[in-house]
Amino acid sequence: MSKPTPEVYEQGKGMDAHNQAMREIRSRKEASYDPHEPTRVWLDEDNTPDGVKQSLTIILNTGGCRWARAGGCTMCGYVAESVDGGSVSHEALLDQIDVCLAHEADNAEEPADLIKIYTSGSFLDEREVGAESRRAIADTFADRERIVVESLPDFVDREKIGDFTRHGLDTDVAIGLETATDRVRHDCVNKYFDFADFEDACAEAAAADDDADSGVEAGIKAYLLMKPPFLTESEAVADMISSIERCADVEGCHTVSMNPCNVQRYTMVDDLYFEDGYRPPWLWSVAHVLAETADVDAIVVSDPVGHGSDRGPHNCGECDDRVQKAIKDFDLRQDPSVFEQVSCECELTWETVLERERSFNQPLTR
Ligand code: SF4
Ligand SMILES: [Zn+2]
Repeated sequence: MSKPTPEVYEQGKGMDAHNQAMREIRSRKEASYDPHEPTRVWLDEDNTPDGVKQSLTIILNTGGCRWARAGGCTMCGYVAESVDGGSVSHEALLDQIDVCLAHEADNAEEPADLIKIYTSGSFLDEREVGAESRRAIADTFADRERIVVESLPDFVDREKIGDFTRHGLDTDVAIGLETATDRVRHDCVNKYFDFADFEDACAEAAAADDDADSGVEAGIKAYLLMKPPFLTESEAVADMISSIERCADVEGCHTVSMNPCNVQRYTMVDDLYFEDGYRPPWLWSVAHVLAETADVDAIVVSDPVGHGSDRGPHNCGECDDRVQKAIKDFDLRQDPSVFEQVSCECELTWETVLERERSFNQPLTR
């Protein structure tokens, strides 16, 4: 098999300038991590198509995303946490899973029904996680109800999903689609694939769903990015509303997780932020998009990370916690009336930003 190089990934994609800038930014980070330890692991609860479940979330350390090594997405700092330059062995990956199981045993009363595995890359890319490791991990969690694995759309296929569904596990593939608009994904996020690739991945998941035993489901969870760099607040809002509607219309996609951009270190967004060229989205925008799309045929959730801080999605500082709480309530209940119960004087500023911010004068507020 030929070895992928950053140059091969760039070729013909018209992304050389973004990638060159991103490679320089990422190279400022120097760190290495133990391949026997997961990047992170935590317990939480999540809304799934079968209701709210206790979850165990694992960020596996797999050597990182190859696209990130080529330069990668303008907002993504996760690669900085991956093992330098190499792949992680089967044994080391299973050691990481053992660390996660021990964390769960120490901190939860009972095993979580829902397992979520992210890799800062693609769990279904066999150069990151080989077939042997994938099947061993499926065996390990065979007694749970549902599993979510993260992947770019290129690597999604019905047989790989079948490794999980054959254990009776409902299986979701989480895809970082970011936006349904190809131009925004290419030019603002610097992500290389097209909406059509996402649709193909959804079709693979739908086929895996058909192949699975009755009562076992397979589907796609789309992750969207609200307000990549270079969009105004109102452009970002419009892009998210249309993206959620388009994703919900694709067969096989049952959940959309719309996440506001936050400013991570060693990213282009961080450089722009530092030069007063980027403000994370308002929490009012997040609430507005959720309310506007509440009737689509999919679960729509949002988990604003770093809410209320200057580097995360925020309002005025007074109302951030209340709006965040309404968003979390919406995630569990899917009822837009939760947003009627929160208000603040800063809504007027937000409305003014929506009306007056243009790409040449943004951000209009801090
Ligand atoms: S967002 Fe995903 S595809 Fe983009 S650089 Fe980060 S890990 Fe890679
Ligand atoms: Zn406020």
